[in-house]
Amino acid sequence: MYSQDQELEFFELSKKLLEQELAVSDYDNLADLLKYHEWKYYVKNDNIISDYEYDLLYKKLEALEENNQIKIRPDSPTQRVSNDLSKNFSTVEHYSPMLSLSNSYNQEDLDDFDTQVKKLSKIESGDIAYYVEPKLDGGSIALVYENDLLVRAATRGNGSEGEDITLNAKSLPSIPLRVKFSEHGIYRAELRGEAVIHKETFAKKNQEREKEGLTLFANPRNAASGGLRMKNPNDSRDRGLEVFIFNMAYAIDQNQNDILTQFETHAKVINILGNNGFKIPNKGIQTARNIKQAFDIARQWEEGREEYPYEIDGAVIKVDSLLLQSKCGATQHHPRWAIAFKFKAKQATSTLLEIEYQVGKTGAITPVAKVEPVHLAGVTVSSISLHNEDFIVQKDLRVGDKVVIERAGDVIPYIVKSLQELRTGKEEPIRFPTTCPSCNAILEKKETQAAWRCYNPKCPAQNLERIIYHISKEAMNIDGFGKSYVEKFMQLDWVKDISDVYNLDYEKIADLEGFGKKSVENLKAAIDKAKKNPLHRLLNSLSINQLGSKASKLIAQEIESIYDIIDWDVEKYTEIKDVGPILAENVISWFSEEENVELIRRLEAYGVNVKQTEQDKPKIIKQDAPFVGKTILFTGSLEKMSRKEAQKLAEENGAKNISAVSSNLNILVVGEKAGSKLKKAQSLGTVEILSEEEFLLIINK
Ligand SMILES: [Zn+2]
Repeated sequence: MYSQDQELEFFELSKKLLEQELAVSDYDNLADLLKYHEWKYYVKNDNIISDYEYDLLYKKLEALEENNQIKIRPDSPTQRVSNDLSKNFSTVEHYSPMLSLSNSYNQEDLDDFDTQVKKLSKIESGDIAYYVEPKLDGGSIALVYENDLLVRAATRGNGSEGEDITLNAKSLPSIPLRVKFSEHGIYRAELRGEAVIHKETFAKKNQEREKEGLTLFANPRNAASGGLRMKNPNDSRDRGLEVFIFNMAYAIDQNQNDILTQFETHAKVINILGNNGFKIPNKGIQTARNIKQAFDIARQWEEGREEYPYEIDGAVIKVDSLLLQSKCGATQHHPRWAIAFKFKAKQATSTLLEIEYQVGKTGAITPVAKVEPVHLAGVTVSSISLHNEDFIVQKDLRVGDKVVIERAGDVIPYIVKSLQELRTGKEEPIRFPTTCPSCNAILEKKETQAAWRCYNPKCPAQNLERIIYHISKEAMNIDGFGKSYVEKFMQLDWVKDISDVYNLDYEKIADLEGFGKKSVENLKAAIDKAKKNPLHRLLNSLSINQLGSKASKLIAQEIESIYDIIDWDVEKYTEIKDVGPILAENVISWFSEEENVELIRRLEAYGVNVKQTEQDKPKIIKQDAPFVGKTILFTGSLEKMSRKEAQKLAEENGAKNISAVSSNLNILVVGEKAGSKLKKAQSLGTVEILSEEEFLLIINK
């Protein structure tokens, strides 16, 4: 969409406009510049200025627009954010009906489709070329551009009429407000797209909602399609919606003539859209010479489904020639020139049989649904976490309900909803227990938290979970010491708390059924090794609420021995970056219990390390390291090492890795095929440019 020279110009212009006072005559330049940065950030995910610099430029634009000598451009980035509340959506008629797609599930289905296409387009021999794209799973949207401006956006609705969501669409940065369609002879175009949410954004949004006590989104699809229809356009933007465009369904010129087929192929249309700033779904090859190849490409999409950053539930296979598309036409229900290839089902229905309540290592009670075992995307699912009481209430789940189960994005299955229309009246409401299923202590729920907890420090279930966690990979990492050993040793009363792990009688263990001499030797060796673990592992292994491995490492850097923190107050903890007051309170409260301090003393007496080790100490970079105080960036492909290895090496030698060429950059290391970053660095004139070899030479000196 922008040439490298243009990009360089915008880069220079950003610096210039950031530094100087702006006049009315700078308005157009600034508006164009911000449009470019929006495209870089939201469409290309490759910003070249910082968020802070973008905000400064944006504020300068707002300031200019407040000056009443300026006529505000309708495509100005400030026009995305609207304070208008559209209470109700009016209905609009689509220029070209939004049909569904017929489905296919295997190669035979696709062969049938191909035969049909050949018949309709009267092609007796030879192959039909197809275009294959991912079937994004979100909310459908139709965009209308007139005279190069976005004038309307609508939901799919009933296919012929949809809801007018223009204001919401305008708030989404991935939708260009102005597109040079006139350069292609187009007066009015209607585009088809899908609003989706990045899987990571989705996970983050749900974490935020959980914290705020709001209903969780069942899946990215629901979050996306709901996000299109928010009453306040700013809420649509805040939900992190991104709109992919995959079709131009209608195009007319000034004289109202249909000119769609002039663009010859679907691939060309998509290319034009991509070059004009639209987000288009692409990855590798998408054009297929024939249906067999189309099937192979669709299967590749299915294999890469989990790695793809957006939810996809299939591939769409389209006749590439627009002329053939129009020859094939459409039924009332679906076009005859396109078909969806559906991936294996990720949803299934089952029956909720009962609820089990699990007690976690920090006392949180997690309800787990036991369901009639069901096959789902390759695994059998029989138990599903229900997170907390609120989840059950919000979904109105009852024992005996038929439920819809889904596995998406992550591999963990969850319950989407209960099928209330299938209820017989025999279903039982779920009553969350008031006492701990393990120790009968009264459960408590803090106002700010979602979980009911058992606060009995002697709770047997918590103790078991704590010991299992203590020996696990994340904590003390005792190889070969599994859950079954813990249960066995607890039964025999040999292990009552984590300290007993280090005080086992190995001769007695060797006498147990199923334990050979060799396995006991291995167990002893693994336990002896764990005794020498760095202090951060021990801290993490204590199962203190919210004290995970990251915080444990941060704290271990600051202390010589574990006893040092007994006197720490909240301020002392929060002086450490990334350690918050709630975590501090939890650790303080844990160490204020005399029993816990005694536990630490016992661990020490049994030989477990309680002091800071070399591995706990912050990595000190020598002051004479070659890159101390320098920022560095790698570009192009490196020969001797991976990008990651190079960055690590640079860091070990004092450098700070940064991600963009700017005036903050000191050193650019250039590999093969370095592109725009090198040019930018050269134009700045302040960046030291090194080859990979020179970089290594400096380090090895
Ligand atoms: Zn309990």
